[in-house]
Amino acid sequence: MLPVAEAERLILNQIHPLNPETESQMVTLDKARGRVLSRPVTSSLDFPHWDNSAMDGYAVRYLDVRDCSPENPAVLEVVGEVPAGIVPDFTLQRGQAARIFTGAMIPNGADTIVMQENTQLQNQKVSVLRATKSGEFIRKQGSFYQAGNILLQSGMLVNMPEVAILAAAQCNQVSVYRRLRVAIFATGNELVPCDRPLAPGQIVDSNQYALAAGIAQMGGIPHCFGIIPDDPEATQKAISGALSMVDVIISSGGVSVGEYDYIDRILKDLGATLHVTKVKIKPGKPLTFATFTESSIPSCLYYFGLPGNPVSALVCFWRFVQPALKKLSGYSSGWQPKFVLAQNRCLLRGGPRETYVWGNLAYTPQGCEFDLAPGLQISANLINLAGTTGFAVIPAGKDQIHPGEWVQVLTI
Ligand code: AMP
Ligand code: MG
Repeated sequence: MLPVAEAERLILNQIHPLNPETESQMVTLDKARGRVLSRPVTSSLDFPHWDNSAMDGYAVRYLDVRDCSPENPAVLEVVGEVPAGIVPDFTLQRGQAARIFTGAMIPNGADTIVMQENTQLQNQKVSVLRATKSGEFIRKQGSFYQAGNILLQSGMLVNMPEVAILAAAQCNQVSVYRRLRVAIFATGNELVPCDRPLAPGQIVDSNQYALAAGIAQMGGIPHCFGIIPDDPEATQKAISGALSMVDVIISSGGVSVGEYDYIDRILKDLGATLHVTKVKIKPGKPLTFATFTESSIPSCLYYFGLPGNPVSALVCFWRFVQPALKKLSGYSSGWQPKFVLAQNRCLLRGGPRETYVWGNLAYTPQGCEFDLAPGLQISANLINLAGTTGFAVIPAGKDQIHPGEWVQVLTI
């Protein structure tokens, strides 16, 4: 049985990100959020594009106002007005000022902005009561970014800030990695889809819906292959069918040691290499990770066989699958699972395996706090997963973590 960190290492070492040359596509900016840039973005524009005012006030020559004070104001003649969006057509001479507004171009001759609050206007003359330093409140051309440099690195996830930057740089088309295609199926004779009546002994295949939601949430395209009965032939057929259509296959169930757990054997028959079959984690022990070689299989290279119990399946997804899929998607950073140190509020019980217990991670002004979800903390109970924001991690071999102690929490 592999320690969690070792299983994680084995999995992530096998993951080779998509090729930016052959596995990219162009998307328009409105479709770019949530995608990963596959090429660096540069701009031919400086930011700011030209010197402009950071304040509503007056553009002045510093020498004219350097020595002013409320008792001894500098009185300047107002010779023009520059609203945002207008190119000033005059040059400021000694003793002159121009009314100016935030974002407006600095007129020639001016080198400083005096904020409106430090002035008094009377009969086309402005009295400047205070000016602190030369160049104040001028946003200089190129002081944020200089044309030709890299604006956004490849491998960067596009979120709100990056959308703003791309828009400002007039990049209406960006090159992003294609979305991962992920096949999902569930195994189990007892399973039915959520819209079918339940006969005695049956339960709903909730894992397939949850995994599809998880894949979509991280930007992949889920392909749901449905429920496969506990029958080796049907399972082999399902896996073989999916192999040529997707990048990754995720199945749930059938990886345990029961009579009906065929997945590992079928993977071997199909020529896959099994890197992980059991992990020292609770919940989630029977996790399978396998790879296919490029030459034997045209498309799919990675297989995750998750345990069937609903919490086990989701813990394995968050702890192992999601980071792997993010790495595969081209993320240059930020694909690793995210842990925070939180102050524990309840008694947490561990055991010989690395134990994950679920609950609420609160970000308070004093730091993070973790509260255990009430109700049964067992892998079959998905009901008290509702609202879960983190999993506290009790290291393997540690019996308890007491209230008030610090605990690592996997954020989801
Ligand atoms: P297995 O890993 O196939 O031995 O399944 C372990 C437990 O998880 C059993 O109680 C199954 O009924 C349950 N289970 C298996 N697959 C699913 C699924 N897709 N959705 C919900 N529960 C499942
Ligand atoms: Mg089963």
